[in-house]
Amino acid sequence: MTYQGDTLYQLQQIDLTLSQQQKRLQEIRHLLENNEAVQTAQAALTAAQADLKPRQTLVRDLELQSQAAKEKQAAAETRLYSGQVKNPRELQDMQNEIESLKRRLADLDEKLLEGMAAVEEKQTVLATAQATFDAVARQVEEKYRDLVEERVMIEARITRLQTDRSTLGANLTSESLRLYDTLKPQKANRPISLFTENTCSVCGIEQTALLAKEIRRRETLIKCRNCGRILVYMPK
Ligand SMILES: [Zn+2]
Repeated sequence: MTYQGDTLYQLQQIDLTLSQQQKRLQEIRHLLENNEAVQTAQAALTAAQADLKPRQTLVRDLELQSQAAKEKQAAAETRLYSGQVKNPRELQDMQNEIESLKRRLADLDEKLLEGMAAVEEKQTVLATAQATFDAVARQVEEKYRDLVEERVMIEARITRLQTDRSTLGANLTSESLRLYDTLKPQKANRPISLFTENTCSVCGIEQTALLAKEIRRRETLIKCRNCGRILVYMPK
């Protein structure tokens, strides 16, 4: 059986890249699905629209009331000055009605002015909310384009890495694979460590002369005397 150390080390490098790419893919999916900035801008826009509508309705209603009162006043005045009504009591009633209509009109006009000012104010708020929403949507669209491109690239990369992984796996004994799989979760996903200058490159501990000799022989899998990782020596 050929020495398995190099292949195990390559397997570890693929697995590390794979998990990094999968993590980024998760992040991208999350970003694409929940965009807080758009949601906030959309909520502000909806609120501004909801705020404006009843005020516009009120103004229209006041305009109609004002119009009706004006017509009623004009009709009463026409009748009063027509000379057709002679009864003083009836004349007095008509004058009272006209006075009352004038007061009502003045009151309506005041409310109308207030209402129109409120509409104008809410229209400004709405225009600002709309502009903010448009700007955020544009930004997100650009960002999304990049993210979607990146997602496509990462998905292709992951597929390639998985193919490489199965190719490598075919060159490993089930025993080495089992050892790798057992050590992987125990050694923070790095069960294989390079052996350089008689030292384990992960934990930094120098190995005994006897162990070093065994490792350099590249025949069997030897573990670091300190951290328990498989030490792989790669001659230059
Ligand atoms: Zn070590």
